[in-house]
Amino acid sequence: MLRLTEIKLPLHHQDESAELKAAILSKLAIDESNLVSYTVFKRGIDARKKTDIQLIYTLDVEVQDEAHLLRRFAKDPHVNLAPDTRYKFVTQAPSHLKSRPIVVGLGPCGLFAGLILAQMGFKPIILERGKAVRERTKDTFGFWRGQALNPESNVQYGEGGAGTFSDGKLYSQVKDPKHYGRKVLHEFVTAGAPEEILYVSKPHIGTYKLVSMVEKMRANIIALGGEIRFSSRVDQLHINEGQLTGVTLNNGEVLSCQHLVLAVGHSARDTFHMLYDAGVYIEAKPFSVGFRIEHEQSMVDACRWGPNAGNAILGAADYKLVHHCKNGRTVYSFCMCPGGTVVAAASETGGVVTNGMSQYSRHERNANSAIVVGIHPEQDYPGHPLAGIELQRALEQAAFELGGKDYRAPAQLIGDFLKGESSAELGDVKPSYTPGITLTDLTSLLPEFATAAIREAIPAFEQQIRGFAKADGLLTAVETRTSSPICIKRGIDFQSINVKGLYPAGEGAGYAGGILSAAIDGIRVAEALALDMQKGANID
Ligand code: FAD
Repeated sequence: MLRLTEIKLPLHHQDESAELKAAILSKLAIDESNLVSYTVFKRGIDARKKTDIQLIYTLDVEVQDEAHLLRRFAKDPHVNLAPDTRYKFVTQAPSHLKSRPIVVGLGPCGLFAGLILAQMGFKPIILERGKAVRERTKDTFGFWRGQALNPESNVQYGEGGAGTFSDGKLYSQVKDPKHYGRKVLHEFVTAGAPEEILYVSKPHIGTYKLVSMVEKMRANIIALGGEIRFSSRVDQLHINEGQLTGVTLNNGEVLSCQHLVLAVGHSARDTFHMLYDAGVYIEAKPFSVGFRIEHEQSMVDACRWGPNAGNAILGAADYKLVHHCKNGRTVYSFCMCPGGTVVAAASETGGVVTNGMSQYSRHERNANSAIVVGIHPEQDYPGHPLAGIELQRALEQAAFELGGKDYRAPAQLIGDFLKGESSAELGDVKPSYTPGITLTDLTSLLPEFATAAIREAIPAFEQQIRGFAKADGLLTAVETRTSSPICIKRGIDFQSINVKGLYPAGEGAGYAGGILSAAIDGIRVAEALALDMQKGANID
C-alpha cells in the first residue's frame, strides 16, 4: 500500500471521490487500470487563506505495480510505503489463570486497559467507584439542574471517566510510534462512533454518543470474560515487602491481586492520600489554573473561516492560543469546546469547578475554552507531594463562596475583568453554565501573578482572534482540573518504582492528558502487565 501525502482539494469541490481519484492518477502519473483502490487516512484543513481554504489529504493507495512506483518516487517525500497500523496483541493468556488482574477506574485509561486485557484473555476485574453511565448521567444532569451534588457520581466519577460529558475531542500530541491511537479510534468506531473520526484531523464525538459507546464497550469486556463492578471504590492497598498483594473496597471486601492498573484520574484526591499513606512514591507535578472564557461561536467562525463560516465540512471553528507573559508565566487556551457549554465539574461538596462540553453537532451558540496559567510545585506549592491538591481545593472553595455557596459559578465580563471592576449586567454573550452564575469581581480569586498574566494575555489573544477581548465576553471560575497535580512515578516496566505489581496509569498518575492519550496509556500498561503475568508465576 502506498501512502500519498499533501494531496489537495479546494473546499468547494464538486465530487470528492472523483476528484481524489483524478489527483492520485495525476500525482503518480498512472492510468486508471493501475489503481486498485484508495482510502482517506487523514483529512486536514489549511485555512491560512480564508478565501481559498484547502483540504489536505493523506491517502492510502493500492496499485498494481507498487514496487515500481516506489522506485520511481524514491526521492519524493509525499510518496511512501504506508505503515502497517493494525494492532497486534503482545501475548495471549493461557486458558488457566491462577489470578486475574484488577483495573481501578473506568475512564478511558481503565476502559482500554480492561478491554485489551480482556481481548488477550486475562479476564480483568474492573473496579469503578462511580455508577454505570446511564445512572451517572441522571446524577450529573440533576446536579446541573440544581439538585444536590453526589460526590461519588458526577462529571469526574463514574463509568466512562472524566471525559464522558465532554466535547469528546480525540486528538493528542503524544508520540505514538506503535499506532495505539488507531486501535483506540477503531474500537470507538466499532462501539458506534462516526467513521469520520478515523480520518478527520481533529476528530470529536460529543457527549451523547460517548455515553452509548461506553456501554457497548462494557458489554464487550463482559462478553470476553471481564467483570465490572460499579460503586466499588478502592480504599486501601495491601503491600507486602514491596509487592502488591491486594486491595480493600469501600464495602470492606478484600480482593487479593498481584497485578493492578491504577487508572483513577486526576480528581481522586482521597485515593491519592491513601496511596501516599500506603508509602507509594508520589511527586508533585505542574498543572494550570484559570477561568473558562465564553464568546459567541459566530465570532470565532468568522475569524477562522472568513467568508466560509458556516460551511458544513469546516464545522464550528476552534482555536489554540499561547502567550508568554512579562512575569515569566505562560497563559494558554485549553480544552476548547466549539459550539458547546460550560459545565459544572465539581466532585467535592463546597467547591465550584468549571470545564466544557459539546454535542457532536457543536451547534450551541457559544464557544468556550479554559484560559489557564501554568503553575509549578517548586514555586507555587512547595513542600509536600500532595500540596497541589490543597491549592486546587482552596481555589474551588473560594469560587464556591464567591458564587453564593449554592454551586453557581462566579463570573465576570471580560471588559470588567480587564479594568478590575465588578460586573453587574450581562452583555450579548449569554452564560451557558448551569446551575447558574453570579456576576462579581474575579480579581482576587486566583493568585496575583495568575490574574496579572491572564489580564496581559487576553488583549494579546485579540491579535489572533478579533473579538477575543470583546468587553461582553464572559469569564467563569474556576478552572483547576486541567491535569493531575501529582505524578505516581513508574519505571520502564510501567510499575510503580517502589511497589511491584502496581501499574500507575492515565491522567491521574501523570502519564496522559486527554481521552486519547489516556486510552493509549491504558493499552501500553495493559501490555506490560500482561507480559509480566505471562512470564511470572501467576499462570499455570
Ligand atoms: P478518568 O477519566 O478521570 O477516569 C478515572 C476513573 O477512576 C473515574 O471514573 C473515577 O470514578 C475512578 N476512580 C477514581 N478513584 C477510584 C477508586 N479509588 N476506586 C475505583 N475507581 C476510582 N479530554 C479530551 O481529550 N477531549 C475532551 O474533549 C475533553 N473534555 C473534557 C470535558 C470535561 C467536562 C472533563 C471533566 C474532562 C475532559 N477531558 C477531555 C479530559 C479527559 O476526560 C481526561 O483526560 C480523561 O478522562 C482521563 O482519563 P483517565 O482514564 O486517566 O481518568
